[in-house]
Amino acid sequence: MDEYGANCLPKKPQWNHTKTKALKCIELKMADTMKIYKDFYSKKNKIYQDTYILKWCKSTIPKRHRNVTVIKKSISIEYSVPALDDIHKKICREAFCDILEIKGDRIQGLMKRYQSGKILMEGRGVDRVKGKNYEKKNSVSKLLRASKA
Ligand SMILES: [Zn+2]
Repeated sequence: MDEYGANCLPKKPQWNHTKTKALKCIELKMADTMKIYKDFYSKKNKIYQDTYILKWCKSTIPKRHRNVTVIKKSISIEYSVPALDDIHKKICREAFCDILEIKGDRIQGLMKRYQSGKILMEGRGVDRVKGKNYEKKNSVSKLLRASKA
């Protein structure tokens, strides 16, 4: 599938964060971005790539807003990547998307689906079927029906 294949080489790092010290985009070298890019595209497989994204993007939802409606609206994501020296560096969304040549929308969509429990992370990938079964098993209507029987 060409959609998940590499189109071109990653851009040379040019993200500069003099104000946000927590973000380490500026410390990433071309060799780092090449390594990350190669890891990501080592398999032209959506599930592999989605798992990669889930591994390095952390979404945070405020506790009081833990419901699906809010998840649909907004989700804040922290991005990090493994540099060559194995140090995990927090970077910005722009840098993350640039390195992997993907759109922020893809990450947002993926994180939202992940957060709403429709997909579960597995050792080898994202198992949609299992997520579905899990939902069914735990659905309130089924519990009610069971108690009536
Ligand atoms: Zn940045």
